[in-house]
Amino acid sequence: ASAPGTPAPARSRLVVLAGPTAVGKGTVAAVIREDHPDVWISVSATTRAPRPGEQDGVHYWFVSDEEFDRMAAEGELLEWAVVHGRHRYGTPRRPVEERLAQGRPALLEIDLQGARQVRDTMPDALFVFLKPPSWEELVRRLTGRGTESEEERERRLATARTELAAEAEFDVTIVNHEVHAAADELVNLLRLDLEP
Ligand code: 5GP
Repeated sequence: ASAPGTPAPARSRLVVLAGPTAVGKGTVAAVIREDHPDVWISVSATTRAPRPGEQDGVHYWFVSDEEFDRMAAEGELLEWAVVHGRHRYGTPRRPVEERLAQGRPALLEIDLQGARQVRDTMPDALFVFLKPPSWEELVRRLTGRGTESEEERERRLATARTELAAEAEFDVTIVNHEVHAAADELVNLLRLDLEP
Protein backbone atom coordinates (compact mmCIF):
# COMPACT_ATOMS: atom_id res chain seq x y z
CA ALA A 1 0.00 0.00 0.00
CA SER A 2 1.20 3.51 -0.73
CA ALA A 3 1.91 6.03 2.03
CA PRO A 4 -0.77 8.63 2.88
CA GLY A 5 -0.57 11.61 0.58
CA THR A 6 1.07 9.62 -2.17
CA PRO A 7 -0.87 9.97 -5.39
CA ALA A 8 -2.85 6.89 -6.35
CA PRO A 9 -1.02 4.65 -8.78
CA ALA A 10 -1.57 5.50 -12.43
CA ARG A 11 -3.59 2.29 -12.72
CA SER A 12 -7.06 3.76 -12.73
CA ARG A 13 -6.55 7.29 -14.06
CA LEU A 14 -7.57 6.23 -17.54
CA VAL A 15 -11.06 4.75 -17.66
CA VAL A 16 -12.15 2.97 -20.84
CA LEU A 17 -15.88 2.39 -21.39
CA ALA A 18 -16.80 -0.23 -23.97
CA GLY A 19 -19.58 -2.74 -24.57
CA PRO A 20 -21.66 -4.42 -27.25
CA THR A 21 -23.32 -2.59 -30.11
CA ALA A 22 -26.62 -0.93 -29.14
CA VAL A 23 -26.01 -1.17 -25.40
CA GLY A 24 -26.15 2.64 -25.15
CA LYS A 25 -22.50 3.69 -24.58
CA GLY A 26 -22.99 6.83 -26.63
CA THR A 27 -26.08 7.78 -24.65
CA VAL A 28 -24.25 7.26 -21.35
CA ALA A 29 -21.45 9.51 -22.63
CA ALA A 30 -24.00 12.13 -23.72
CA VAL A 31 -25.61 12.10 -20.26
CA ILE A 32 -22.20 12.52 -18.60
CA ARG A 33 -21.46 15.52 -20.85
CA GLU A 34 -24.79 16.99 -19.79
CA ASP A 35 -24.92 16.12 -16.07
CA HIS A 36 -21.19 16.11 -15.23
CA PRO A 37 -19.49 18.78 -17.34
CA ASP A 38 -16.45 18.54 -15.05
CA VAL A 39 -15.69 15.02 -16.33
CA TRP A 40 -13.17 15.01 -19.15
CA ILE A 41 -14.16 12.76 -22.06
CA SER A 42 -11.83 12.22 -24.96
CA VAL A 43 -13.11 13.59 -28.28
CA SER A 44 -12.55 10.99 -31.00
CA ALA A 45 -11.66 11.65 -34.61
CA THR A 46 -14.04 10.07 -37.13
CA THR A 47 -14.45 9.89 -40.88
CA ARG A 48 -18.23 9.75 -40.65
CA ALA A 49 -20.34 12.83 -41.35
CA PRO A 50 -21.80 14.85 -38.46
CA ARG A 51 -25.41 14.14 -37.51
CA PRO A 52 -27.76 17.04 -36.88
CA GLY A 53 -26.74 18.83 -33.69
CA GLU A 54 -23.25 17.35 -33.54
CA GLN A 55 -20.45 19.87 -33.23
CA ASP A 56 -16.88 19.53 -34.43
CA GLY A 57 -14.56 19.33 -31.44
CA VAL A 58 -17.41 18.58 -29.01
CA HIS A 59 -18.89 15.24 -30.06
CA TYR A 60 -16.17 14.29 -32.53
CA TRP A 61 -13.44 15.76 -34.64
CA PHE A 62 -14.92 15.23 -38.10
CA VAL A 63 -12.02 14.59 -40.45
CA SER A 64 -11.50 13.53 -44.06
CA ASP A 65 -10.16 10.10 -45.00
CA GLU A 66 -6.86 11.77 -45.93
CA GLU A 67 -6.58 13.50 -42.56
CA PHE A 68 -7.38 10.25 -40.74
CA ASP A 69 -4.70 8.45 -42.78
CA ARG A 70 -2.21 11.13 -41.78
CA MET A 71 -3.13 10.98 -38.08
CA ALA A 72 -2.80 7.18 -38.03
CA ALA A 73 0.47 7.19 -40.01
CA GLU A 74 2.06 9.79 -37.75
CA GLY A 75 1.16 7.91 -34.59
CA GLU A 76 -1.26 10.57 -33.38
CA LEU A 77 -3.91 8.00 -32.43
CA LEU A 78 -3.84 5.97 -29.24
CA GLU A 79 -6.08 3.42 -30.97
CA TRP A 80 -8.36 3.34 -33.97
CA ALA A 81 -10.81 0.96 -35.59
CA VAL A 82 -13.30 0.58 -38.41
CA VAL A 83 -16.66 0.45 -36.65
CA HIS A 84 -19.70 -1.34 -38.13
CA GLY A 85 -17.57 -2.09 -41.19
CA ARG A 86 -17.88 1.48 -42.42
CA HIS A 87 -16.19 4.50 -40.88
CA ARG A 88 -12.97 4.90 -38.93
CA TYR A 89 -12.88 6.20 -35.39
CA GLY A 90 -9.80 6.91 -33.29
CA THR A 91 -8.64 8.47 -30.03
CA PRO A 92 -6.20 11.38 -30.37
CA ARG A 93 -3.22 10.50 -28.20
CA ARG A 94 -1.95 13.91 -27.12
CA PRO A 95 -4.94 15.23 -25.09
CA VAL A 96 -5.21 11.92 -23.20
CA GLU A 97 -1.49 11.86 -22.39
CA GLU A 98 -1.62 15.47 -21.24
CA ARG A 99 -4.49 14.73 -18.83
CA LEU A 100 -2.74 11.68 -17.43
CA ALA A 101 0.53 13.61 -17.05
CA GLN A 102 -1.41 16.05 -14.86
CA GLY A 103 -2.59 13.11 -12.75
CA ARG A 104 -6.17 13.75 -13.76
CA PRO A 105 -8.67 11.13 -14.90
CA ALA A 106 -9.67 10.69 -18.51
CA LEU A 107 -12.62 8.77 -19.95
CA LEU A 108 -12.69 7.04 -23.33
CA GLU A 109 -15.95 5.78 -24.85
CA ILE A 110 -14.85 3.46 -27.65
CA ASP A 111 -15.72 0.16 -29.28
CA LEU A 112 -14.39 -3.26 -28.22
CA GLN A 113 -11.66 -3.39 -30.86
CA GLY A 114 -10.36 -0.04 -29.61
CA ALA A 115 -10.55 -1.15 -25.96
CA ARG A 116 -8.40 -4.18 -26.78
CA GLN A 117 -5.77 -1.98 -28.40
CA VAL A 118 -5.67 0.30 -25.36
CA ARG A 119 -5.33 -2.75 -23.14
CA ASP A 120 -2.24 -3.76 -25.08
CA THR A 121 -0.60 -0.34 -24.83
CA MET A 122 -1.97 0.92 -21.46
CA PRO A 123 -2.74 -2.18 -19.39
CA ASP A 124 -2.99 -0.08 -16.22
CA ALA A 125 -6.19 1.61 -17.37
CA LEU A 126 -9.50 0.66 -15.76
CA PHE A 127 -11.67 -1.21 -18.28
CA VAL A 128 -15.42 -0.86 -17.77
CA PHE A 129 -17.90 -3.03 -19.66
CA LEU A 130 -21.39 -1.63 -20.22
CA LYS A 131 -23.88 -4.47 -20.34
CA PRO A 132 -27.57 -4.60 -21.30
CA PRO A 133 -30.02 -5.61 -18.55
CA SER A 134 -30.78 -8.82 -20.46
CA TRP A 135 -30.22 -10.57 -23.75
CA GLU A 136 -33.87 -9.95 -24.63
CA GLU A 137 -33.44 -6.22 -24.07
CA LEU A 138 -30.36 -6.12 -26.32
CA VAL A 139 -32.28 -7.98 -29.03
CA ARG A 140 -35.05 -5.42 -28.69
CA ARG A 141 -32.62 -2.50 -28.98
CA LEU A 142 -30.79 -4.09 -31.91
CA THR A 143 -33.80 -5.05 -33.94
CA GLY A 144 -36.27 -2.51 -32.63
CA ARG A 145 -36.77 -0.71 -35.90
CA GLY A 146 -37.75 -3.95 -37.59
CA THR A 147 -36.55 -2.61 -40.93
CA GLU A 148 -33.65 -5.03 -41.38
CA SER A 149 -33.79 -8.17 -43.45
CA GLU A 150 -33.79 -11.49 -41.61
CA GLU A 151 -30.19 -11.97 -42.70
CA GLU A 152 -29.08 -8.59 -41.37
CA ARG A 153 -30.90 -9.30 -38.10
CA GLU A 154 -29.14 -12.65 -37.70
CA ARG A 155 -25.79 -11.03 -38.46
CA ARG A 156 -26.31 -8.35 -35.81
CA LEU A 157 -27.42 -10.86 -33.21
CA ALA A 158 -24.39 -13.06 -33.88
CA THR A 159 -22.12 -10.03 -33.46
CA ALA A 160 -23.86 -9.06 -30.22
CA ARG A 161 -23.47 -12.57 -28.81
CA THR A 162 -19.72 -12.50 -29.47
CA GLU A 163 -19.43 -8.99 -28.06
CA LEU A 164 -21.22 -9.93 -24.84
CA ALA A 165 -18.65 -12.63 -24.24
CA ALA A 166 -15.98 -9.90 -24.04
CA GLU A 167 -17.20 -8.99 -20.55
CA ALA A 168 -14.67 -11.41 -19.07
CA GLU A 169 -11.83 -9.23 -20.42
CA PHE A 170 -12.97 -6.23 -18.36
CA ASP A 171 -12.24 -5.07 -14.79
CA VAL A 172 -15.72 -3.81 -13.94
CA THR A 173 -19.25 -4.27 -15.34
CA ILE A 174 -22.00 -1.66 -15.25
CA VAL A 175 -25.50 -2.83 -16.17
CA ASN A 176 -27.36 -0.24 -18.22
CA HIS A 177 -30.80 -0.52 -16.60
CA GLU A 178 -31.31 3.22 -16.78
CA VAL A 179 -28.98 5.65 -18.47
CA HIS A 180 -28.67 8.27 -15.69
CA ALA A 181 -27.95 5.59 -13.10
CA ALA A 182 -25.33 4.00 -15.36
CA ALA A 183 -23.73 7.42 -15.96
CA ASP A 184 -23.60 8.09 -12.20
CA GLU A 185 -21.99 4.71 -11.58
CA LEU A 186 -19.33 5.45 -14.14
CA VAL A 187 -18.68 8.93 -12.76
CA ASN A 188 -18.30 7.44 -9.29
CA LEU A 189 -15.60 5.13 -10.63
CA LEU A 190 -13.78 8.12 -12.11
CA ARG A 191 -14.11 10.06 -8.87
CA LEU A 192 -12.74 7.18 -6.81
CA ASP A 193 -9.66 7.59 -8.91
CA LEU A 194 -9.31 11.16 -7.74
CA GLU A 195 -8.95 10.12 -4.12
CA PRO A 196 -5.40 9.72 -2.92
P1 5GP B 1 -21.49 6.68 -33.58
O1 5GP B 1 -21.12 6.77 -35.03
O2 5GP B 1 -22.85 6.13 -33.37
O3 5GP B 1 -21.26 7.99 -32.86
O4 5GP B 1 -20.47 5.67 -32.90
C1 5GP B 1 -20.37 4.37 -33.37
C2 5GP B 1 -19.40 3.56 -32.52
O5 5GP B 1 -18.07 4.10 -32.59
C3 5GP B 1 -19.71 3.46 -31.04
O6 5GP B 1 -19.74 2.08 -30.71
C4 5GP B 1 -18.52 4.10 -30.34
O7 5GP B 1 -18.19 3.42 -29.14
C5 5GP B 1 -17.43 3.92 -31.36
N1 5GP B 1 -16.35 4.90 -31.20
C6 5GP B 1 -16.48 6.24 -31.01
N2 5GP B 1 -15.28 6.82 -30.92
C7 5GP B 1 -14.35 5.83 -31.04
C8 5GP B 1 -12.92 5.82 -31.01
O8 5GP B 1 -12.24 6.82 -30.85
N3 5GP B 1 -12.33 4.61 -31.18
C9 5GP B 1 -13.04 3.45 -31.35
N4 5GP B 1 -12.34 2.31 -31.48
N5 5GP B 1 -14.38 3.43 -31.38
C10 5GP B 1 -15.04 4.62 -31.22
